[in-house]
Amino acid sequence: MTKLFGTNGVRGVVNEDMTSELALAMGKAIGSYLRKTKDKPSVAIGTDARISNVMLKTSCTSGLLSVGCDVVDLGILPTPTLQFAVKEKNFDAGVIITASHNPPQFNGIKVIDGDGTELAKDQEEEIEKIYFSGNIEKTPWDKVGTFSQWNGAIDLYKKSILSNVNVTAIKNAKTSVVLDCGNGAGCFVAPSLLNELDCKVRELNCEPDGLFRGRPSEPVPENLKELMSIVPEEGAEFGVAQDGDADRAIFVDEKGNFVFGDKSFALIARYIVRQRGGGKVVTPVSTSSCLEEVVKAEGGEVIYTAVGSPIVARVMKKVDAVFGGEENGGLIFPEHQYCRDSAMTIAKMLELLAIENRPLSELIDELPKYEVVKLKTHCPNDKKSQVMNRLSEIVADESEVESIDRTDGVKIYTKNGWVLVRPSGTEPIFRIFAESKEKSRADNLALKYKKLVEEIVQ
Ligand code: MG
Repeated sequence: MTKLFGTNGVRGVVNEDMTSELALAMGKAIGSYLRKTKDKPSVAIGTDARISNVMLKTSCTSGLLSVGCDVVDLGILPTPTLQFAVKEKNFDAGVIITASHNPPQFNGIKVIDGDGTELAKDQEEEIEKIYFSGNIEKTPWDKVGTFSQWNGAIDLYKKSILSNVNVTAIKNAKTSVVLDCGNGAGCFVAPSLLNELDCKVRELNCEPDGLFRGRPSEPVPENLKELMSIVPEEGAEFGVAQDGDADRAIFVDEKGNFVFGDKSFALIARYIVRQRGGGKVVTPVSTSSCLEEVVKAEGGEVIYTAVGSPIVARVMKKVDAVFGGEENGGLIFPEHQYCRDSAMTIAKMLELLAIENRPLSELIDELPKYEVVKLKTHCPNDKKSQVMNRLSEIVADESEVESIDRTDGVKIYTKNGWVLVRPSGTEPIFRIFAESKEKSRADNLALKYKKLVEEIVQ
């Protein structure tokens, strides 16, 4: 193992790659990293609802304590709830034991910075360096850290959500909702939040279960069939599903149709930008142009970043954005905090529907329609950057190409849509996304540039 951190913290199968020994060593490495800038760092730790949560939490806690960090255990809670507590209670860092939407045999460790954001790549690399060099802080016996527990994080977090939405409008609407927490950490926040907002709630998979017996944790159409059938049966105004650590929310309209994440993102973006009379919305280059079209129409501006929610959050802070997020249902509300937050997303959707007073399906139907085609093609890892450079040179001369963006991979804008050629961070492949208003054009774009990449690779 030469790399510890993937795109979303450290993850693996429990007792195979993700062991108690690894969690202990990670705790020591994270603690030693924090000790570089502070004598006695305070660290909040929490977990999602997986069955290996206590095993990994206690190991990691032991590692942190052994190098002189004070640890406060916040219990089982959504990732954004821990992030909020880190920021508001001035912890120096946070650690969340979770594998997000992965199957139950997985678990992971994610580190949170003192401002509540996920660590940036260079910070993770420093922890990695300490881990592999074994350069662990030497701590005398009387300087090991203290341990305590605090159960106030969920209330503190819900209070912030309630202060950032129009509670009166939501309460008056008495919205009927089918809530599917997927047996994850969302169970500890979303049901009570919706009750406090006077919603009529039909609960589905709202009991925490580390085996995810209700449904697989990833909120994709094939896993939400039950939710999609119950929403129209109940006559609910919408359904909503969370992933395992409750940073992402995916909606189902009143007819039981799955609402793709790019649509809910665009809908809420339009609402926020309209309310603010403009502003910047931040998202990765892979996001549908649907977002840009609605944001521009309201006098706002879209700023594109490389793929990854920590990057989106940091750019949002820098440019003072009004909103941001990813197409997978991970939306970021800066007035609340700079991280993906499903409970805040659900509350904002309730406000939007209360104010607009129209069915969700109608609002979604009004949004601009784009067709997306996704392909992939093989490329050895060591050839990727060469291939991308060559691709940029070749397409620069093509008459149909209007501009090229190298923020992440190569994004080629043409008169009829765009195509993004992006190297996978984990596999020897390029992912090719093409988007156009017409399906045939998106197909042509994807196939054309796939062929071109293949020619260059050869
Ligand atoms: Mg997640």
